[in-house]
Amino acid sequence: MTNNERVNLYDLAPAQLQATLSEIVSPPFRVKQIAEWMHSRGVDSFDAMSNLPKELRAHLAERYTLEFPQVVERTPPASDGSQKYLFVLGDGNRIESVYMPMRDRTSVCLSSQAGCAVGCTFCVTGFFGAGRNLTPSEMLGQFFTVQREHQVPFEMMNAVFMGMGEPLLNFDHLVTTLDILYMNIAAKRITVSTSGIIPGVDALAKLERRPNLAVSINAPDRKRREEIMPITKKYPLDELIAALRRYPTEKGREITIEYVLLAGYNDSKADAVALARLIRGLSAKVNAIPFNEDPNLPRWMQRPDDEAIDAFADALVRNGAHVTVRRSKGREIAAACGQLRGKTERKRPQRRVNGAVRVEPAEIERDLMYGERR
Ligand code: SAH
Ligand code: SF4
Repeated sequence: MTNNERVNLYDLAPAQLQATLSEIVSPPFRVKQIAEWMHSRGVDSFDAMSNLPKELRAHLAERYTLEFPQVVERTPPASDGSQKYLFVLGDGNRIESVYMPMRDRTSVCLSSQAGCAVGCTFCVTGFFGAGRNLTPSEMLGQFFTVQREHQVPFEMMNAVFMGMGEPLLNFDHLVTTLDILYMNIAAKRITVSTSGIIPGVDALAKLERRPNLAVSINAPDRKRREEIMPITKKYPLDELIAALRRYPTEKGREITIEYVLLAGYNDSKADAVALARLIRGLSAKVNAIPFNEDPNLPRWMQRPDDEAIDAFADALVRNGAHVTVRRSKGREIAAACGQLRGKTERKRPQRRVNGAVRVEPAEIERDLMYGERR
């Protein structure tokens, strides 16, 4: 058997893992030990499973792998300790994650695809075009690698799917990944960010255990949203808002409305008023994300100055919205997922014509609270 034919055990949902291992491993407590090494320790080799007999470890290694993506680069820590990771996958694709330590918790921003077909014009990942879905082992590998390198206790960990790609276009693998993450971290500590794939939002709504939902709205009206987020022609703003209104939000939770602020484009007070009106009645908070510039992105796109950002946030608050503003530290480390890869990557010819660059979800910043939540 070659390497490639071996099943990666991290690609199996917990019940599937149990069933698969039970066929060749006995007694049953050994199966439990293996699952613990994986799901509670995130080990990436059978040799690390020190309480298993040597022969069993060798037997497992013949049939299965526990392979994670390999780290190819880490940026030096930014002033707030944040670090970007560039990983290479088995097939040579490269993806990014971001480690974001905060006072009382630590978040890891995970990629869900090796590119993005949605093609938002302000996003570096979108600029480089579509990429394949990541497998559960590739998503979990980002999480466990960063968690282990920084020795963060699981109870301090948050996971946010705001890296490269559109997680709801990789739904099944996302759900398997979530089911494994839930072994260590509560659903309310996991956030999935979507550009607004309505069938995906409705599918999330049906899950027994749901992560937090973040939705990139980015414009207060359909026309502008379609200009900068081509996918929304398929999933129009009013239908998306209707999907959010029927989405079951757990007590104490809010949907995050992400809104990338582009100077002179969507950052006026009138835009803030329109946005507040759009989401009125939803259990939601706006996360205003000042645009992160990148050489691959259109030159006209710029980050508003601090005064404009504050005025936008204030107008939202005055119109009844809950608001946080991301103050980007990420720029210091070429923040925004996709931008690190984008530094050395050449865009494939004819890949995309609408001139976007890839984005970054994961800015590395502290969110500043406004209004009543200040
Ligand atoms: N595809 C998902 C998750 C990844 S993008 C989504 O779009 O939600 C995560 C966030 O980064 C989105 O809110 C997106 O609007 C934002 N983003 C993308 N490019 C950006 C940039 N250049 N500057 C600031 N935010 C950006
Ligand atoms: Fe894809 Fe999100 Fe970037 Fe849009 S913002 S291109 S959906 S990763």
